[in-house]
Amino acid sequence: MESNETPDPRLYIDEVREKLSQAKNITILTHLNPDADTIGTGLGIYTLLSKERSKKVEIVNASNSLPQYLDFLPHFSKIKDTMDFEESLVITCDCGNIERLGVNLDNRDIINVDHHISNENYGAINVVIPEYASASQVAYVLFKSLYTIDKNAASCFYTALLSDTQYFTTSSVNPEVFEVAKELVDIGVDPAEVAQHFTQRRSLASLRILEKALGSLSLKLDAQVAILYVTRDDIDVTGARMPDMEGIVDYAKSLVTVKVAVFVMETEEGLRVSLRSKGADVSMIAKEFGGGGHSVAAGFTLLQRDLHETIDIILKTIQNTGLIHGKK
Ligand code: AMP
Ligand code: MN
Ligand code: MN
Repeated sequence: MESNETPDPRLYIDEVREKLSQAKNITILTHLNPDADTIGTGLGIYTLLSKERSKKVEIVNASNSLPQYLDFLPHFSKIKDTMDFEESLVITCDCGNIERLGVNLDNRDIINVDHHISNENYGAINVVIPEYASASQVAYVLFKSLYTIDKNAASCFYTALLSDTQYFTTSSVNPEVFEVAKELVDIGVDPAEVAQHFTQRRSLASLRILEKALGSLSLKLDAQVAILYVTRDDIDVTGARMPDMEGIVDYAKSLVTVKVAVFVMETEEGLRVSLRSKGADVSMIAKEFGGGGHSVAAGFTLLQRDLHETIDIILKTIQNTGLIHGKK
């Protein structure tokens, strides 16, 4: 187990139990541009709470497209794009700031379940554990004291953990992560089945847009920074949607010389930028542009900006911060 310094989600159990017991309606919210952690955490919690006959539960994602490769998760088809309850207790999943939820939460009580170090603690209860590898790890440790975790919920939490740890390879992986994974497998998760669903059901558009992105690859600053981009035209021609572009930036990061990888997507909603690093803190670059994230995985969105000018500005920012020379 970990040192005693890591905060423990179980510290919040009494407060969370109290809030849940008072709530008649519960809205589970997942973040915009959803990934497997937010969806898996949300569906895992949904699976547990929707068994309570005395409560109405909804799960919402305000994006215009969901990652369809997650459609094997229990209750995936229940995810709606609008909040229907006029009053509800809200549980947010894997989301560092309220804007990233894309819905109006005025006058709602919020339980914030997350692991982003940049989390703004916008909830009435903030179960935020940056030391944890996924929001699903937070949710599992919190909810296992309140509910019996069944196989369906365990599959959701496991998938989210598998994804946020990039198959148990990130620096956030420690004995506690494997303990959680073991407990989830003991409950009934089949790791091979989840991995099969997760890796072998790609859309054709995701490979076509990957091809475009790799075609754009350039190396800068002594090949320590890799830049990839896709234009509006690339996105239109391939039919790719946001979830089809997940993971592309990691190809650039995988190059031997590369310390920081940048992927810029010229979407209808503006320029979406994904940053990845092998150790340097790219969240500080994201923050310069109004975004956020983790030290080795961060992002931001810019409205109405030119693609190539923006790439130049990002490069200058990386250079000026001294990030790739280890000065931070
Ligand atoms: P992505 O590149 O979209 O996979 O995002 C990488 C990380 O950066 C995720 O953990 C997100 O939480 C975070 N992130 C991405 N975009 C934003 C944003 N606009 N604001 C805050 N955090 C973001
Ligand atoms: Mn996420
Ligand atoms: Mn996460």
